Amino acid sequence: MTFTEALNLLVNGATPSEAALVALLGCNDVEAAELYRAADKLRAAMVGDGIHLRALLEFSNICSKDCAYCGLRRSNRQATRYRLTPDDIVGIACEAKDLGFPSIVMQAAEDGWFTGQRVAEVVREIKEKTSLAVTLSVGERSESDYRLWREAGADRYLLRIETTHPDLFRALHPDGNLENRMECLRVLKRLGYQLGSGVMVGLPGQTLELLARDVLWLYELGTEMVGIGPFIPHPETPLATADGGTFNEGLRLVAVLRLVFPHAHIPATTAMASLDPMGRERALQAGANVLMPAVTPTERRPQYALYPGKICLDDNARRYRGSLEARIRSIGRYIASGRGDVYRVEHDEEVSAGDIGEDV
Ligand code: SAH
Ligand code: SF4
Repeated sequence: MTFTEALNLLVNGATPSEAALVALLGCNDVEAAELYRAADKLRAAMVGDGIHLRALLEFSNICSKDCAYCGLRRSNRQATRYRLTPDDIVGIACEAKDLGFPSIVMQAAEDGWFTGQRVAEVVREIKEKTSLAVTLSVGERSESDYRLWREAGADRYLLRIETTHPDLFRALHPDGNLENRMECLRVLKRLGYQLGSGVMVGLPGQTLELLARDVLWLYELGTEMVGIGPFIPHPETPLATADGGTFNEGLRLVAVLRLVFPHAHIPATTAMASLDPMGRERALQAGANVLMPAVTPTERRPQYALYPGKICLDDNARRYRGSLEARIRSIGRYIASGRGDVYRVEHDEEVSAGDIGEDV
């Protein structure tokens, strides 16, 4: 299939096929400019010009897992480890609220100290003290933990599938299980979470065909938020000398995702911003509509080193918000008001917290 045929199909709402996705993901630079324009236009028509801000709090980097790509893997003895206390987390959530963030993303490595109960208590306290939408991103857990957190008031969950190819998944996750990760995503969806997933692009051994199949799997799953980023090799991992993914590969994938998921929330991720000083703006102009500025305590930011060169933004979130707003305005966009809940096409409306609660 040619690039033009593939673009026409997806812009007109055809169900994506592997052949069409490969034609788009493998496009040349001239075609890419056309792809970005089409994705930007569709983004404007489907989710508008507002950019949703999510405050990202990275609350523990202590990990029981050993993912081959990640600087936080338990075998990395060079990493300086930290864990925020539940009180710290609640305090930072309240600050985020005061700074005008409508939602907080609580992300961490797989840290067993944060039992189901402990996380549930933190979520409950944040929901009692603030009106923030709460997103969790703490990896693979039991169905009972996921249920407990949902009942405590968690609204959303982010869990990237990373890759859907069994051999590649196994090679990257010595202590992981693809079927379990897939099942976690299905359980989260059943529990009524607004669901985010995604992949890394440029993983060793990943081909355009495999990436296309990942996108098709996410499509079948019905993910409502899609976060992707280039794989960036970390020196203290087994993949230290592997080739990483490129910014351009990431940007093509962002644009393709907008075509496949017209209503999704798609962030301009930190990995994209880390590879290009204008990475955020460029992703926002190629299909993305979400930014996730870190509210992690300044001294902890360099320690949440999933990959090298991860940008550690201005520690003064108030000042930062001003510069962020200026950058957003510079590309003709604005900061969206409201929580930025997912848009569920079948209901033709934004989902409110109450609507979701009824499904649980
Ligand atoms: N522990 C949780 C969340 C923290 S990791 C989990 O694993 O789901 C968050 C994301 O960082 C991962 O999903 C992965 O996609 C990304 N990541 C990890 N190492 C990376 C690297 N070297 N380059 C780019 N992204 C990476
Ligand atoms: Fe731990 Fe997540 Fe990094 Fe894997 S990707 S080592 S689970 S923090």
